[in-house]
Amino acid sequence: MKTPSRIRWHLGRVISRRFETEAAVRLELDVPTWPGNNAGAHLDIRLTAPDGYQASRSYSLASSGESTRVVLVVQEVTTGEVSPFLVRYLAVGEEVQIQGPLGRFFVWKPTDPDRSPVQLIAGGSGVVPLFSMAAAREHEAEGAAFRLLYSVRSPRDTLFADELAGFSRTIVDIAHTRESAPGAGQPPGRLTRETIAASTFPASLSPRIFVCGPTPFVEAVAGWLVELGHDPARIRTERFGGMS
Ligand SMILES: Cc1cc2nc3c(=O)[nH]c(=O)nc-3n(C[C@H](O)[C@H](O)[C@H](O)COP(=O)(O)OP(=O)(O)OC[C@H]3O[C@@H](n4cnc5c(N)ncnc54)[C@H](O)[C@@H]3O)c2cc1C
Repeated sequence: MKTPSRIRWHLGRVISRRFETEAAVRLELDVPTWPGNNAGAHLDIRLTAPDGYQASRSYSLASSGESTRVVLVVQEVTTGEVSPFLVRYLAVGEEVQIQGPLGRFFVWKPTDPDRSPVQLIAGGSGVVPLFSMAAAREHEAEGAAFRLLYSVRSPRDTLFADELAGFSRTIVDIAHTRESAPGAGQPPGRLTRETIAASTFPASLSPRIFVCGPTPFVEAVAGWLVELGHDPARIRTERFGGMS
């Protein structure tokens, strides 16, 4: 029996890398056997050391569609095992093993018949799969209304800053938690139930909601959304791990 492509291991070669912020890298991989992926999906990367030791981690795809080029954005967790290697050392021309695409639940498809508004809520690097959904929406002339609320430490930590500023089909709200943009009328601060109420589609519109970020962020946001009257069945979450 043929192994379904999503559970196959593929070989990907790094064809470009550039720093997205001081602590995050954008990697483009060429994966000749990649079957394409929906916006929001992720893959697993497996690294093998010269002594045979292996470590694997999940990374969301910033790219979508039928292409053998995949784009990842990896934020460095300085105490981590895998992300510092990917951010600082993985060089153009090197190969990594990848498995995927994974995550059929946390995806948005342009062909989806449900045209209700789509609310995206991201914490930190949790913006990667949500960026992918909004970028896919940009290519469609018609479709659901999109809105993104992105909680991030400061302007210089913002991933996809240029692309987000250029989106025309997604309303983008950025909330800085540690340092505001110069001239911003409000001090930085973590998201609250009130910020969410003010900067997202209301429950009366019955939006589909995708929340992604560190585990405590996702749990707090999902709880507030339910308190604000959203149907839990309309809320999809993806947890990146970590404590902040
Ligand atoms: C479905 C999925 C998609 C993901 N997509 C992305 C992505 O697109 N970009 C991205 O940068 N990361 C993403 N992650 C997180 C990624 O898989 C790793 O967890 C992260 O890179 C840390 O790995 P590490 O080996 O460096 O740290 P580890 O060695 O695993 O952990 C070291 C320490 O850091 C803490 N830690 C682990 N993960 C995080 C985190 N995310 N934030 C803060 N602290 C953490 C751990 O609790 C531990 O104390 C995703 C995770 C999942 C489950």
